This record gives sequence, C-alpha cells and structure tokens, in this order.
Amino acid sequence: MKIAFFDAKPYDKPSFDKYGGEAGFKFKYFETKLNEDTVDLAHGYDGVCVFVNDTVNAAVIDRLCEMGVKFISLRCAGFNNVDMKHAFGKIHVFRVPAYSPYAVAEHTMALLLTSIRRIHKAYIRTRDFNFSLSGFTGFDLHGKTVGIVGTGKIGRVFLDICRGFGMKVLAYDKFPVKEIDNGDTVRYVELDELFENSDIISLHCPLTEDTHHLIDEKALEKCKKGVVILNTSRGALVDAEALLNGIKSRKVGAACLDVYEEESDWFFEDYSGHIVEDDTLARLISMPNVIVTSHQAFLTEEALSNIAEATVNNILEFMEKGECPNELCFRHNVAEDCKTGKCF
Ligand code: NAD
Repeated sequence: MKIAFFDAKPYDKPSFDKYGGEAGFKFKYFETKLNEDTVDLAHGYDGVCVFVNDTVNAAVIDRLCEMGVKFISLRCAGFNNVDMKHAFGKIHVFRVPAYSPYAVAEHTMALLLTSIRRIHKAYIRTRDFNFSLSGFTGFDLHGKTVGIVGTGKIGRVFLDICRGFGMKVLAYDKFPVKEIDNGDTVRYVELDELFENSDIISLHCPLTEDTHHLIDEKALEKCKKGVVILNTSRGALVDAEALLNGIKSRKVGAACLDVYEEESDWFFEDYSGHIVEDDTLARLISMPNVIVTSHQAFLTEEALSNIAEATVNNILEFMEKGECPNELCFRHNVAEDCKTGKCF
C-alpha cells in the first residue's frame, strides 16, 4: 500500500512511520500541500493522506480518480476543505473523528488565561528585567459566564474545564445533548441569548453553510461590551474584518484565535522574514489584546499518536472490508447528512 502524504511536517513522521510501518504501509512525505498544481504527485499511489489546509476541490478529486487513486484519508476531524458533494460516489474519504478533544479544549483555556491575565505580555516584560505590573490587571474567571457554541467532543471537555473554574455556561448546539443542561449553571439557550449574556464566547462547532461567519458584525452588536472571543475551531466561523472592527471600537475586549479564515496562505509556515500582505491578519496580530496561534491546538504527543493510529486503522479496515466506519462519503452521502445533522 503506497500513500502520498501531503503537507508533511517533521512532527508528523515519527508516529506515521511507527503505525504505518507496523501495517506495512509506505508513506511518501510531500512537504507541499495538495492542490490542483500538486495533485499529479499522487500518480502511482493507492491513496492520499491530507490535512486541514490541503485543497480537495472538484478538480483535485477528478484528477485523483483519473490517476486511479482509491481513497483520500484525512488526518483530521474537520472536512470543510473537501468537496463532499463532488466526492460522493467517486472516491472514498475517511477522517479521524476524534483524536484528543483534551488537546484542543486545554489549548482554548490556555489561550483564555494567557489573554485575560496578560501572560504573553508579562513573559516579554520579565525577560527584559522589567518587573512593573502596569497594565496587567486581569479579571477572575470564577462567576463569569462562558457561551459555548457546539457541545460535541471538544465543546464538552471545554465545558467541564470551565465548570472547574466556577464559571456559568450558556450552551448552544444545533443538536443539543439534553443531559448536559442542569437548568442552573449549565443551560442550553438560543444563540441570541448566548451572545447577549456571555462574558466569553468559545466556538466548538464545525464550519458549515449554517455556521459560516457565525460571529459577524450583527452578532458582535448583540454581545456584551468587552466580550472575549475564542476560536479554536475553524477560521471562517468568524468574520475577521468584523472582529477587527470590534477590537478597534473596544466592543471586543480580547480575541484568541487558533484559526483564521485565510490561514491556508500563512499558517504552519515560517514567514518571519517576509512582508505579510494580509492586512487583516497583520492588524489583528498587532493588537495587544489579540493572541494568534497557528492552528496548534491539536498538537500534543497524545493527539499525534492517536491521529496516526486511527488513520492507519481507517486504511487497514478499508483494505480488508472495502469500507470503514470513519468513511465520510461514497455509499454514505455526508453532504446530505450534514444538513440533517445525522453525521454528527
Ligand atoms: P463534534 O462533531 O464532536 O462536535 C461538533 C458539535 O457542533 C456537535 O455537537 C454538533 O451538533 C454541533 N453543531 C453542528 N452544527 C452546528 C451549528 N450549526 N450550530 C451549532 N452547533 C452545531 O466535533 P469536535 O471534535 O468537538 O470538533 C469541533 C470542531 O473543532 C471541529 O469541527 C473542527 O473544526 C475543530 N477542531 C479544531 C482543531 C484545532 O487544532 N484547532 C482540532 C480538532 C478539531
């Protein structure tokens, strides 16, 4: 079994070599992302293994099929970068639905604490032997209200972490899990109520047509002054221009972003010696109350190991049975199921 592995990073290789080696797979690691220009690298391979910023559009899918590539194995949970409607019936697509919800939820809390206690500023100050505390006044999380959009695997771990801090939770999910709601400290509410009453809003839902720009100018208008926005889910859940305007107008107190709408042009690469041409990203990063990490929330040893193991198992199951439970389409039309919510 030969698999072309796109957007390969040094931290991917040890776990994929381990689990792939045990299964007798040969991964060919390509540093480049998969897109229309690079798809021909997959010639002669049985499958491709891709990540969040590879482009799996109709043209790429058609070319993979022409070359006899049998499957697309996503080594991530989200699949908004794959044209599912086009893939349906043509090529098998697998994903890793969960690898460590703790990794992402813990990173979300790390960002929140860093931001509101100014740890990012204090770190720089003390390295310069500046021990002044001016401008570092934060606020207690205890007693604050956090709005959690999406109470799936990651959202629920984050919810538990927030409860550990003594926070109240307002939750919104298109498909609520009734048992979570205790009618007191954790309540499901409509999105508007969540916007109006949350001190902190954290996004943990997938990117779909419904959730595109969930946080936009109108949503921010409804929010409390000083609201803290956390996005460790997908960039396009937040209208970055609207967020920037909210920061400038002081409506938004702080923002912590592990994802960004146009991240595929920048994230995961070193542009430290370059002129960054994305003015919105550059302006957001320049703000003292914005923290950006480059889609790093998943990056723990446990998650990397789980991702590699699950990806290899997906391919093994497909080889042995012709299908696997983590298949997204082909026989199972996920594009339709997404609309009805069956796929979650
Ligand atoms: P999940 O499928 O377990 O949970 C998603 C939840 O969102 C479900 O409860 C679902 O009902 C809900 N949902 C679906 N449509 C919705 C809508 N329109 N409005 C509100 N809620 C809706 O997924 P998960 O494992 O918890 O992951 C959540 C998201 O986190 C993923 O979609 C992915 O985009 C993102 N993620 C980011 C990283 C990272 O490194 N930053 C890593 C993994 C996942």
